[in-house]
Amino acid sequence: MKKPFVQRDAFLPFSKPTIRQAEIDEVVDSLRSGWITTGPKAERFEKAFAEYTGFPEALALSSATAGLHIGLIALGVKPGDEVITTPMTWAATVNMIEACGGTPVFVDIHRDTCQMDERQVEAAVTGRTVGILPVHYAGAPCHVGALLEVARRHGLWLFEDAAHGVGTLYQGEHVGAFGRLGVFSFHPIKNMTTAEGGLLTLKEPELARALRAWRFHGLEKSAWNRYAEGGSPQVEVILPGFKYNFMDLQAALGIHQLASVDEFNARRRHLAALYDRLLAEVPEVERPGVPAYDHFHTWHLYVVKVLDSAGLARDAFMTELKARNVGTGIHFRAVHTQPYYARKYPQWLGKLPEAEWVSDRLFSLPLFPAMEDEDVAYVVDAFKDVLAHARG
Ligand SMILES: *Cc1c(COP(=O)(O)O)cnc(C)c1O
Repeated sequence: MKKPFVQRDAFLPFSKPTIRQAEIDEVVDSLRSGWITTGPKAERFEKAFAEYTGFPEALALSSATAGLHIGLIALGVKPGDEVITTPMTWAATVNMIEACGGTPVFVDIHRDTCQMDERQVEAAVTGRTVGILPVHYAGAPCHVGALLEVARRHGLWLFEDAAHGVGTLYQGEHVGAFGRLGVFSFHPIKNMTTAEGGLLTLKEPELARALRAWRFHGLEKSAWNRYAEGGSPQVEVILPGFKYNFMDLQAALGIHQLASVDEFNARRRHLAALYDRLLAEVPEVERPGVPAYDHFHTWHLYVVKVLDSAGLARDAFMTELKARNVGTGIHFRAVHTQPYYARKYPQWLGKLPEAEWVSDRLFSLPLFPAMEDEDVAYVVDAFKDVLAHARG
């Protein structure tokens, strides 16, 4: 006899940050010190992140969206420029192309991994293309090698959206600086958090200098130093910058989160492997695929697709899981189907069949370091119960 499904009392959220005593003490230390905005801890965090990833330059920011914005500006994106990107991302990736006056050009995804389909990128290049902005989706890397080849052949830049990718490796190297720029996010649902926060990674010191000015009111530090040495409090504005700086209060969290991220990721990998094993018994949902090339997956998301054989659609499936105290999320609705993009660029609707198929069927399961193995087993039992009821 199959044992009956017993509903849990506590709601299992889709995501939950792990904040421990070290983070709390460090934030309190910042508050007591009187230095709460950008200062020594922000610098310490940048150095630690550069060391962790192996990149020469790391610029912490108020968000990944801010990093996308000034990154695209510093790369020179202007009205009329085309940027090749993926529809399977958070809207911020595409919104920032629009914010610079650029035109997003979508290529379809691989249905199994949801990564940008590198085989379709070259055909998307036109005389107006300036760069490629892929996403390392769900904590696995996109096919960086193939994208770099296309970029080199056509003189394009590569800017990696690595919002899901702290700890992610492609052929043994950390994602984020294969091309000219990479951007990370520390939003609470990401693999490590600073409440809100982001970070740009790069190798070129000149580009880093410009980005530091774009980040903070257009101020040039070297000019500031020049005056400071002369004893004058003058600062110089060298470009019309933004205010996207990273506070020491955020860094106080980030320093300890970064020190724990390998441990967090190891736990995510364990939970994902457990989902994979248990969901093998549920043929009505498609499990996430992983790339065939050498990589290290940090499982930011565990995304399944509800197949037609389930007998109920994705949204109904999510509602039924919620009724059984299981939280889920949609990552993502294909960006070209969002009202703004569908109105402005209707030509894409129907032209990205894999992304549209996935967009209607995918959802993300609870996955965070503090989850127990029994929580994973509960989610899979809840799946089976939902399906048993759908079959009537
Ligand atoms: C979360 C996310 C962003 C935006 O990050 P913020 O730090 O919230 O601005 C950008 N791209 C992708 C793929 C994301 O998942």
